[in-house]
Amino acid sequence: MAFFDKPVSDAVRDVHAGKVSARSLCARAIESAEGRGRELNAFITVCGESALKRADELDALPPDVRRGMPLCGIPVAVKDNICTEGIKTTCASRMLESFVPPYSATVVEALLGAGAVVVGKTNLDEFAMGSSNETSYFGPARNPRNGQKIPGGSSGGSAAAVGAAVVPAALGTDTGGSIRQPSSHCGTVGLKPTYGRVSRYGAVAFASSLDQIGPITSSVRDAGLLLSVLSVPDKRDSTCAGRQFADSEDFYSGDVSGLRVGMPREYFGEGLSNEARSAIVPVAEKLKRRGASVVEVSLSNVKYAVAAYYIIAAAEASSNLLRFSGVGYGFRAAGAGTLDDMYRATRAQGFGTEVKRRVMLGTYVLSSGYYDAYYMKAARVRTLIANDFERAFGGCDVILSPVSPSPACDLGSSAGDPLSVYLSDIYTVSANLAGIPAMSVPCEVPKGALPVGAQLMAGRWREDLLLRVGSAVFGGDSPDSMN
Ligand code: GLN
Repeated sequence: MAFFDKPVSDAVRDVHAGKVSARSLCARAIESAEGRGRELNAFITVCGESALKRADELDALPPDVRRGMPLCGIPVAVKDNICTEGIKTTCASRMLESFVPPYSATVVEALLGAGAVVVGKTNLDEFAMGSSNETSYFGPARNPRNGQKIPGGSSGGSAAAVGAAVVPAALGTDTGGSIRQPSSHCGTVGLKPTYGRVSRYGAVAFASSLDQIGPITSSVRDAGLLLSVLSVPDKRDSTCAGRQFADSEDFYSGDVSGLRVGMPREYFGEGLSNEARSAIVPVAEKLKRRGASVVEVSLSNVKYAVAAYYIIAAAEASSNLLRFSGVGYGFRAAGAGTLDDMYRATRAQGFGTEVKRRVMLGTYVLSSGYYDAYYMKAARVRTLIANDFERAFGGCDVILSPVSPSPACDLGSSAGDPLSVYLSDIYTVSANLAGIPAMSVPCEVPKGALPVGAQLMAGRWREDLLLRVGSAVFGGDSPDSMN
């Protein structure tokens, strides 16, 4: 049962005006999460009891206090690699199957402080490693538009939950595309902020120099609203820049006159499916009609982006995942004789195949003798890619590109072929390597066709441009695309 037929900002207005209670909104979201959400395997945990308790607390607050809360009573879902105090946080891994964090991530505290209610934790690829949600220990999530298709990954559960209107907003994490790609496949808006915009404190680290938390919503306006709440300064993450995003009504006017939209020729060549191309090219026309100019730009080093990304991401993952040793927390294999045996058995049994592949690859590229040949080289390529973007943004304000080469594929269709899955990240990983903000917005597609997202990228800290152009593409509020 889908119930969210209006943007978050409108629903909040109703709560503020006393027209609807936080309890009734949350009760409907929980029912929907237990029904449609479970059907889609979008949730690993639905926390009905704690959510209703929180909703009642909100309803009992004096009206003027509630009016100060920009997300008062709004049910949200949180990807299950983001820590929630007292609520299981599994990373979709056997390793953390019963891990209950003693603290909440900064973003979760920020949501709660704004009056949002966490109704559940969403499914993902194990430790956010994947592009289809199929590496989850709890089984794959499904695409809300077609249950035989992948929802995309790694934030597949969050995108499925929002795409099915179970919740109006969810958090995802994006290391190489995991907010944007599932948003593209599920018809939602997904925003990966500038690296350093949002605190990573309490997000289970995959590749720390690439990871960012961001919102998945059903409208562009809601993405801006969520970003303004999430981007609180935070001393607990030394990479958090403390630049809180200031939202403005002005971003959602649909006016893009005078803006230059760059289309990188490297992103529209071979490998892009007809379905994606024929959905994205008209976006440029639409922007032109609304007053923007469209120019061709070149990002000549992006052809190395997937290779560089998989070396850097794996290297950082191999280091970050060392902490899962069976000692501090999480799963511990029984029956091992020595400490070394215990480590080995714990990691062999606790991690799935994809995670092991990344840890082995990462350990290899960091080992002495190979470090210069692989890791250092990838780090240099990363700089070249960042320079390409800087140059491109000299000639345009926003870059328009595909998110994914094709719409969602069948569940199970890429099993056993990790390389082809890695290659499908071709359009998204560069934004993470360069640290720039990027957003997926739904394009118009023929009736009955699977969703296709257009990717917008801008220079560092220019999420305002993404929202401005995104609104012109999709409309500021557009819940009509979500059924
Ligand atoms: N698909 C990419 C990977 O598997 C990106 C994942 C992500 O952004 N978390 O690494």
